[in-house]
Amino acid sequence: MFTEAEGKSLLSEFGIDTPQGIEIAVGQELPAHLREPLVVKAISATLVHKSDAGGVRVGVTRAELVDVAAQMRDSLADFGHVLEGLLVEEMVPAGHEIIVGAVRAPGLGWTVMVGLGGILVEVFEDVAFGLAPLSENQIRDMLAELRGMKVLNGARGGVKADIDALVALISRLAGPDGLLASLPEDVTEIDLNPVIVSDTRAVAVDARFVVGTGDSTEATGTERRDGTPTDFGPLFRPRRIAVLGASGKRPNLANRFIRNLVAGGFDGTIVPIHPGEAILEGLPALASLSELAEPVDYAFVALPAARVSEALRHGAGKVRFAQVVSSGFGEVEEGKELEDTLVATVREAGIRLIGPNCLGTHASAGRLSFVPEAPLTPGNTAVVSQSGGLSVDILRVGAFRGIDFHSVVSIGNSADVNAAELVESFLHNDEVHVIGLYLESLSVAREVLNVLDRAETRKPVVLLAGGRTAGGSRAATSHTGALAGNHRLWPAIARQAGMTLVDSLDDFATALHALSTLDLRIEPTGRGAVLFGNGGGASVLGADALDREGVATLPLDDSVISGLEALDLPPGNGFHNPIDVPAGTLAVRSGAVAGDILKLVLAGSEPAVLISHLNVGIIQRNLGATHGDVTGNIIDSIARARDESTSNTHQLLVLKTDGSAGTEELIRTYAQRARQQGIPVFPAFEDAALASRAVLEQGRQTHQASLGADGR
Ligand code: ADP
Ligand code: MG
Repeated sequence: MFTEAEGKSLLSEFGIDTPQGIEIAVGQELPAHLREPLVVKAISATLVHKSDAGGVRVGVTRAELVDVAAQMRDSLADFGHVLEGLLVEEMVPAGHEIIVGAVRAPGLGWTVMVGLGGILVEVFEDVAFGLAPLSENQIRDMLAELRGMKVLNGARGGVKADIDALVALISRLAGPDGLLASLPEDVTEIDLNPVIVSDTRAVAVDARFVVGTGDSTEATGTERRDGTPTDFGPLFRPRRIAVLGASGKRPNLANRFIRNLVAGGFDGTIVPIHPGEAILEGLPALASLSELAEPVDYAFVALPAARVSEALRHGAGKVRFAQVVSSGFGEVEEGKELEDTLVATVREAGIRLIGPNCLGTHASAGRLSFVPEAPLTPGNTAVVSQSGGLSVDILRVGAFRGIDFHSVVSIGNSADVNAAELVESFLHNDEVHVIGLYLESLSVAREVLNVLDRAETRKPVVLLAGGRTAGGSRAATSHTGALAGNHRLWPAIARQAGMTLVDSLDDFATALHALSTLDLRIEPTGRGAVLFGNGGGASVLGADALDREGVATLPLDDSVISGLEALDLPPGNGFHNPIDVPAGTLAVRSGAVAGDILKLVLAGSEPAVLISHLNVGIIQRNLGATHGDVTGNIIDSIARARDESTSNTHQLLVLKTDGSAGTEELIRTYAQRARQQGIPVFPAFEDAALASRAVLEQGRQTHQASLGADGR
């Protein structure tokens, strides 16, 4: 057990500032070196929150010590505690009260929290989390997340806190060589509540170390395998596929898998495996994997759970990847043992296992898919999903929103191959430019974080996290533990790993579409966004949406505005940012006028993003018959303005529908035309705003990484 004094001496061993103090027995003389004013704290084995039982007195003089002790004894007695001694400390001068804490979470290691004490933590829960070990920059990123940061910086005449001292304190606690890393496993929670941060120091005036039952000692982010990395190439371009579980009598999932393969134009060899049928789905079958004359790259296994291990045992040395779609394994209590056996079997047999309890793998270039009529245009976006059902939606919604997939792998229980290993392989795969993850497990996310941390190269990563609701994640005795819910840990992992975190399937598709369409090698030099299009109110709402995503809509320079005025356009334009033009202006030179406007903006403002928005319904109705293909010409002008400009600007396009079937159809063709020219298209401003954030965020990550690599 740790007393407060023991905790504090441990803190000071690690260079963390604590008040001068001493434990004394009631009535014992106080050593001369302690300077007034003093703080007197009760020592009692049963007392947790000392102040609640009158166990803390601040601003005490030596002369008052005897009286204070007597009052404390009575007050503690009222609450059923026995005063065993006193901790007498020097009183630290006033400052901001900050709570710093840490909780050991299964599969995550130490999660670290910082928040502003008092009402901001209690009521607003204004706290930020991070995962140890934390670099100083990561600690600063955490602090930047606090809404109360302005208060620390001296807002409204308050003390300007010594942020560097606070960062140093957290670093001594949670940095690579910090206290947390050296604590015995049975210490599960720490609260330094408060740390008093003045304009010159940060002092931990209270320290509570919770010693737990030791049940949270699960390893953190452990890599499951060692040895040479697996080459996933054959998974995404299989030449020979075995299918286990198809029926000669009643067509099932495995039969449909074969039919999908054939219908999708898979031109390799398909070998059904069945103990009793010679022909399945018109293809010659083998009785067991052991009869394979040549190895297969991929085996699709849809057998009852109890029969899977035995069937795969026969595939020793003959199967590279086996995807077990069957359920009834580790996801249910009765299946845990079956899953252990399955893992042992595939290890023995030299097979890499995907699943169990999943749907399959989609690989466009390999014409392999688990969904009927899958979109098979090869692309640069690779997705790993912990949910099977959602992986189907990701494929369908994603394709509809303009994403061409390299692959979508549904990994289910990921008993062997997991998301982190696939991410690692994608980082080395030149065909993959963008990575999307749907994860439900924080510990898997932590492993991905470790992979990204270690990696020499960087690619954009978008994370859709399942299970982000507030409910407390574990029974906790500390403040920190009580606040360490999943809804806080996901953002912490995403921030630290540099992943863009999104809330919905739509946002996931939006971010992936933008990242896979735009050229992220372009590094914007300017800031903020410029908006251009028709519909004044729409563009005001658009600017608001951008603001919510942290992207500013800055006013245009006078020189740009006078340049726009000199174009001598029809009346009714607004040349401040957002740039609003009526349909009449868009009609000039059948839309080609957009090129003149955008070129002036790019040259004069060099914004980080330029979003054009067109109300296709209105343009079509007002100009369609008289002015030709205005929308199409504007799209081509956007691309041309980009190509002829030296500005490092990402251009995005919003095509708004009026809901009519005709307009929808037109938008589909226009969207394709834009995408083919490298311009991502979104149905609403909100989507373009999210996409802008994702592109700027991920662009920064990739450029930082390449700088880091160069500097090494
Ligand atoms: P509790 O067990 O109630 O959390 P603390 O040790 O945190 O007790 O003390 C309660 C409050 O007293 C702190 O929040 C802080 O405001 C103040 N305090 C405690 N120790 C000191 C100190 N050494 N110097 C200045 N203020 C202190
Ligand atoms: Mg306290």
